[in-house]
Amino acid sequence: NKSRKNQKISTQNVRRTDRHFKRNEQMSKVWKFDGLLQEEGWLTPCYVKTDSKGHIEEISQIRPNDTGHLESVEGFVIPGFQNSHSHSFQYAMSGLAEIHPDPASQDDFWSWRETMYSIALSMNPDQFEHIAAMLYAEMLSHGYTHVAEFHYVHHNKDGRPYSNLAEMGERLVSAAKTAGIGITLVPIFYQKGGFGKKAVEKQRRFISKTSADYLELLSASDKATNNYSKANIGLGIHSLRAVDQHSIGEAFQESKHSPIHIHIAEQLKEVEDSLAFYNQRPVEWLLDNFNVNKKFHLVHATHLSENEVAGIARSGAHVVLCPSTEGNLGDGIFPLHSFQEQSGNWSIGTDSHIGLNPLEELRILDYGQRLTTHRRNQFISPTNGDSGLFAVDMALTSGRKAMGNSNETYFKIGQPMDAVVIDSKSPLIATCEAKNILSTLVYSGDRTNVYGTLVDGEWKVKDGRHQKLDGILSNFKKSLSELKIR
Ligand SMILES: [Zn+2]
Repeated sequence: NKSRKNQKISTQNVRRTDRHFKRNEQMSKVWKFDGLLQEEGWLTPCYVKTDSKGHIEEISQIRPNDTGHLESVEGFVIPGFQNSHSHSFQYAMSGLAEIHPDPASQDDFWSWRETMYSIALSMNPDQFEHIAAMLYAEMLSHGYTHVAEFHYVHHNKDGRPYSNLAEMGERLVSAAKTAGIGITLVPIFYQKGGFGKKAVEKQRRFISKTSADYLELLSASDKATNNYSKANIGLGIHSLRAVDQHSIGEAFQESKHSPIHIHIAEQLKEVEDSLAFYNQRPVEWLLDNFNVNKKFHLVHATHLSENEVAGIARSGAHVVLCPSTEGNLGDGIFPLHSFQEQSGNWSIGTDSHIGLNPLEELRILDYGQRLTTHRRNQFISPTNGDSGLFAVDMALTSGRKAMGNSNETYFKIGQPMDAVVIDSKSPLIATCEAKNILSTLVYSGDRTNVYGTLVDGEWKVKDGRHQKLDGILSNFKKSLSELKIR
């Protein structure tokens, strides 16, 4: 009986903790899992020893010589998913833009954006933080252990900066800390209302007038990440339509070692406007005017010519694909097949959070390609034909780069034990050989397959439940009832 057994384990845990350690102080411990994914394949069974910070000390097939606490888990462990693109506040409007009272009227990305603006204008910092904390707890429940927050709601409702310039960014870091997810805060430079156009009133909370203003915000945001050991900073340009050429150049000069995130070519109208203004397509223009390199993460990059596909791949830049949101907004389909043939790198993001399941993002991405090409093997794997493994590996390795994390090893000694534990007892996992686990998971899995999520060697989600759900949910409900948007 699963729940009884888990109860027993957790009771033992608590007793030992009480006897030997103060509250909130982690102990070094040994985990036993049914299997752990490594680059060479599954290690079955697997013991992992973690230190007092939750970092990995040892990985082996036999139990380490250690008298410390052993926690035995009936699960297969894979590295935590990386969510490379998030606008946390948009979670509050998930599903709400699907009611179309006038069937004759045109509803598209741009009309959706009007609703999104009014929600962005309505939130105070507390509400903003509570929504983000709920979202991040839900992300953890789906197996994400790190998120890149593409953050542009910077200022007070009247458009004036808060006395703490990075007030709202600090709230996101605080929300991530509450939920226990890693965060790469990407404060966004947002300057204009469109190519060559002034920002409009509705965009007042987003605006940095000059690159100097933005760099000040970036520096304040960087300081805000000091409040949490799992927070770091990235640099972000909203889009080519939102910042002028000169200012983009000035911002890029400050990028130091950070990842650089930018929305690009999401909508056809954006491509048309770019052609009208710059006489070039967005990606074409970006590649021609800046030293685009492997630090760049081009979000969406939906509409590309063959030259642009080749140009991105050659530059080493990554793309961030958000298939559930891109589908929901009717953006279009990224030319994945051609990009992969040229060894392009991509990761996934949940963007507007209409979907939060990383497995679903991978499937929608694959199925979009299958539906348009009538071929099934779309994820191109140079080493073997396992689409599930390829998808998990690509989303992880490119996703970590989107976070500014240079670790290329799935589980590495000295690195945090951030992992998703797949329930060994779910029917299809319980009955398949280790080599079939990832394809089974990616193509037939959902949240119910996630037994738990570990961050820094601690259960953030256990037995499908976030450990701080009650408090986070109650704040979320309070804020949503104040906002009256749902
Ligand atoms: Zn976005």
